[in-house]
Amino acid sequence: MRLVLLGPPGVGKGTQAVRLSKRLGVPHISTGDMFREALAKKTALGLSAKEYIDSGKLVPDDITIGLVRDRLENPDCAGGFILDGFPRDVAQAEALEKILEILGVSLDAAIYIGAGSRIVVKRIAGRRVCEGCGATYHISFNPPPEDGKCPKCGGRIYQRVDDRQEAVRERLKVYKALTEPVVDYYKGLGILKVVNGEEDANEVLEAIISMI
Ligand code: ADP
Ligand code: AMP
Repeated sequence: MRLVLLGPPGVGKGTQAVRLSKRLGVPHISTGDMFREALAKKTALGLSAKEYIDSGKLVPDDITIGLVRDRLENPDCAGGFILDGFPRDVAQAEALEKILEILGVSLDAAIYIGAGSRIVVKRIAGRRVCEGCGATYHISFNPPPEDGKCPKCGGRIYQRVDDRQEAVRERLKVYKALTEPVVDYYKGLGILKVVNGEEDANEVLEAIISMI
C-alpha cells in the first residue's frame, strides 16, 4: 500500500501514519521527523533546515525532494510506504510522480484528513513531542507523564519551537497558499479520499482503513 496523508498542520497526520504503519506493515516516512532527527544530530541537512522550520516556512524543494527520493529508493519501501508531510506543494507532488514512475510503482491513495481551524490550533498548541523517538503526546487528549520523560524511550518531552503561536500562524498561511493546491492535484489524478479528522483518533483510523 502506497499512501500520502494530506491535511493542515496539527490535524493528526503523524498520529494516523504511526497507526497505519503498524496496521499495514509499511514504513512511515515523515519529512518533518527526518528534519528534526537531522537537527538533533546537528548534520548539515538539519542545520540548513532549522531556520525554515523554526519560522514555519517550507524547507526548499530541492533539499526536501532529494531527501524523499533517497528514502523511497531504500529497499524497505519496496512493499509500500506512508508519506506524512510530503508533498507540501505542487512541485513536490509532481516530483513524487516522477520518482515513483522511475521506481515503476504508483500511489494507491492520497488521504485528506480534514478538521476546522479551531480544532487544529488546539491540537497544535497542546502537542508535545519526544526528543528521542518522536512520539507525540497532547496535554489534554493524550497527556505525557508528569516527569516529562517519554514512556517509550526515556527521552525528554518538549514543545516544538514551531508549535508556538507566531510560527503556527505562518504555517497555517503556508498551508493555505502552497499545500491546499496539492489536494486538488490528487483529486485531478482521481486518487483523493477524504476523511473527517475531528473524530477520536481510533475512529479516524477505522475510517481510513475502511476507505482503502
Ligand atoms: P500532524 O502530523 O498532522 O501535524 P499530529 O499527529 O502531530 O498532527 O497531531 C497533532 C496533535 O493532536 C498531537 O498532540 C496529537 O496527540 C493530537 N491528536 C491527533 N489526532 C487527534 C485526534 N483525533 N483527537 C485528538 N487529538 C489528536
Ligand atoms: P511537520 O513535522 O510535518 O509539521 O513539519 C515541520 C516543518 O518541517 C515544516 O513546517 C517545514 O518547515 C518542514 N517540512 C516538513 N516537510 C516538508 C516538506 N515536504 N517540504 C518543505 N518543508 C517541510
